[in-house]
Amino acid sequence: MVVRMSPGTWITLGAFLAGCMSRSTDPPPPVVALITVDTWRADHFDAHHTPHLWSLASQGERWTDAWSPMGLTTPSHASMLTGLPPWEHGVRANNHHGYTLPPDVPTLPEHSAFADWASGAFVSAYPAGPEGGLARGWDVFDGPEESERSGKVAVDAALAWLPDDRAALLWVHLYEPHGPYEGRGATEGERYAEEVRRADALLEPLLDVLVDRQARIVVASDHGEVHAEEKCGWQHERSSHDVVLRVPLLRWTPERRGKVHTDRIGLTDVPALLRDELPAARPHWLAESGTCEPGCTGCSPQGLEGRDAVAISSAARLTRRPGKTVLKQGAPSAELEAALASIPALTVPTEEANEASLQALGYQEPSAP
Ligand SMILES: [Zn+2]
Repeated sequence: MVVRMSPGTWITLGAFLAGCMSRSTDPPPPVVALITVDTWRADHFDAHHTPHLWSLASQGERWTDAWSPMGLTTPSHASMLTGLPPWEHGVRANNHHGYTLPPDVPTLPEHSAFADWASGAFVSAYPAGPEGGLARGWDVFDGPEESERSGKVAVDAALAWLPDDRAALLWVHLYEPHGPYEGRGATEGERYAEEVRRADALLEPLLDVLVDRQARIVVASDHGEVHAEEKCGWQHERSSHDVVLRVPLLRWTPERRGKVHTDRIGLTDVPALLRDELPAARPHWLAESGTCEPGCTGCSPQGLEGRDAVAISSAARLTRRPGKTVLKQGAPSAELEAALASIPALTVPTEEANEASLQALGYQEPSAP
């Protein structure tokens, strides 16, 4: 059978085929994704606890000496979104303590590298929410109506949003490993490990889509968790222990570099990693502990002023405890001593601001006049 086509049909068919060919050869719009898993310890980043993320890291890059600037969700995420430590971006406690990003500190979606990109953030807990300034710059900022939500809700919302016809910057935050832990394990540690495995499993469909889109993906924890290591058990907030400050950190790109970096970097390097840069190794890392939340028992000292400042190098560790005591481990250099001294004292919000925000969250009763 011969099918006759008019000249107009040929023109239409030719344009259709040309469109198909150009579509098949054009690279898809770029996607850059930051995934943060809250309270995920570096020693729970392996093929057993996080098989999907471990597989991603084994094709991409993983850092074995990566650090958080603080064991608190809002300050640490603010560091990932600004590239600054808490004492420079100004968020030195969780958002309900009254700290927020100053308007002159630019956030990740406001960076010129992502100008005109679609941007969407999907978070799973109040401390990563808009109070504190983390929502600034995102086209879409989606968080829980209650204090927290399942990571599945955040992942589903992110997948429903992700545009396939525009360059897109994405942030997805999961809260599963944060206490209280759910699971069948007999101990807190076993239930914590279950929560880490659950977060990894919830991320699988998102990772599949991002790898299929040839996205650049950075995955990190905002901080780790204290188990039996310190007196302030099961509370990362007041701790400057390595299990809180050392974090998992990985990057996957279409180049599939297959590299393990042993250089020391930290969460303030996340913006550079997202721009596909390789941060320079840091001779030392500076951090401070967070603060005891209401209900935390066994921690001493408590309160916003009761925090440690730490300087960590390969050879030594200095810890400045409240009261000006400096604990020395190893052989600290003069440079490390000077680095520790560079962490400025904390400016505490007014008692009224603190009390009002804590009461709004139901943490405490109004104090007597
Ligand atoms: Zn956190």
